[in-house]
Amino acid sequence: MKLTKKITLPESEMPRQWYNILADMPNAPQPLLNPKTRQPLKPEEMEPLFAKELVAQEFSKERFIDIPDEVLTLLKIYRPTPLVRASGLEKALDTPAKIYFKNESVSPVGSHKLNSAIPQAYYNAKQGIKHITTETGAGQWGSALSIACQHFGLDLNVFMVKNSYNLKPYRKIVMRTYGGQVHASPSNVTKFGRDILAKDPDCQGSLGIAISEAVEMALETPNCRYTLGSVLNHVLLHQTIIGLEAEKQLELTGDYPDKVIACFGGGSNFSGISFPFLRHNLKDGKKTRFMAAEPAACPKLTKGKMEYDFGDTAGMTPLIPMYTLGHDFQPAQIHAAGLRYHGGGQIVSQLKQDGLIESYTVEQKDALNAGLLFSRCEGIIPAPESTHAIALAVQEALKAKEAGKEEVILFNLSGHGLLDLATYEMLLDGKL
Ligand SMILES: *Cc1c(COP(=O)(O)O)cnc(C)c1O
Repeated sequence: MKLTKKITLPESEMPRQWYNILADMPNAPQPLLNPKTRQPLKPEEMEPLFAKELVAQEFSKERFIDIPDEVLTLLKIYRPTPLVRASGLEKALDTPAKIYFKNESVSPVGSHKLNSAIPQAYYNAKQGIKHITTETGAGQWGSALSIACQHFGLDLNVFMVKNSYNLKPYRKIVMRTYGGQVHASPSNVTKFGRDILAKDPDCQGSLGIAISEAVEMALETPNCRYTLGSVLNHVLLHQTIIGLEAEKQLELTGDYPDKVIACFGGGSNFSGISFPFLRHNLKDGKKTRFMAAEPAACPKLTKGKMEYDFGDTAGMTPLIPMYTLGHDFQPAQIHAAGLRYHGGGQIVSQLKQDGLIESYTVEQKDALNAGLLFSRCEGIIPAPESTHAIALAVQEALKAKEAGKEEVILFNLSGHGLLDLATYEMLLDGKL
């Protein structure tokens, strides 16, 4: 039989609804808490910061939520994304396992982040909001939100961690090309930033500081809201389009995944590819395993504690029930900057506690070497974040070989690494 290398879907087959796993979880997550009163957070308490419809999605128990037509039209710029059989990798590993990957790197910004940036910009614009703020580490989320805001005529201010702003100039240029305004954080455009600079003019910034600046600007600017690119329930919801497409694509091959694998930062791409399949474990008795690949330098699900913690370093956000390394945890400066978040979010943490998903750690060097192998077998240079998923998929495919098992492995390629070539150069020169 001839191999089908990639499975594409016509636009007419694109999912019309997102899947909300809150409708099917055996145990509902504990509520978010107001940090001052320690009482469950009410939706209206989130509305000064987030667009109303996004807050409604954050709390919704509806199983399926319609994707608005305007959002679908923009998603069609790059969706449906291909499902690809990693036949080159299978051959190199000489494994009986079938390996598939969902290629989210084909989005114009190079990652899955656009899947949530587009609906977030849409719901803000629909409400009449004119200004948006956010923070970004390596710049993936900031890039996605910059083009999404441009589509809906929104003005965007991005606070980018100063260290990355100076070390990773290209994503800053991508954001500016799309019309976003980028500030190295700490900046002098917020009081919080000015206070830090007064004490420490050379401060290199952190995600926590950048969040605090973006929140301050959103609260103090008329007609302005804040956005987040991962962790929150509504972000995971938007990302389920990945798994819903993959489900249709796999149906065309006759295969069903035994293992679903994705890298884990705040949980959005992992949830996106996993939840549509997890619903068949919960409702139809399927036995797929869901495996999150965490960096050894930031193992929140694998080594963190399940407890209430803040989402940011400064302690300004609601308290979130989650697996966390502590909101003041400072992970090492690994190249996969998108995986350096300290916590796992409300839904994923509950699923982990209930034994419905698993997590594994991957050392940076093993991850990047798997990325190198993948580049040479499949021709795509993966994002440093995505290499963690590849390393775990390779490990499982080798186990299948040892056991002589013909299993089906599906992993998510969350992004490409063409703006991360300095990392690959260090690997190739033996300088990691
Ligand atoms: C942001 C990012 C991640 C990590 O975020 P999640 O919310 O855990 O998906 C992973 N891969 C890429 C390419 C990213 O940009």
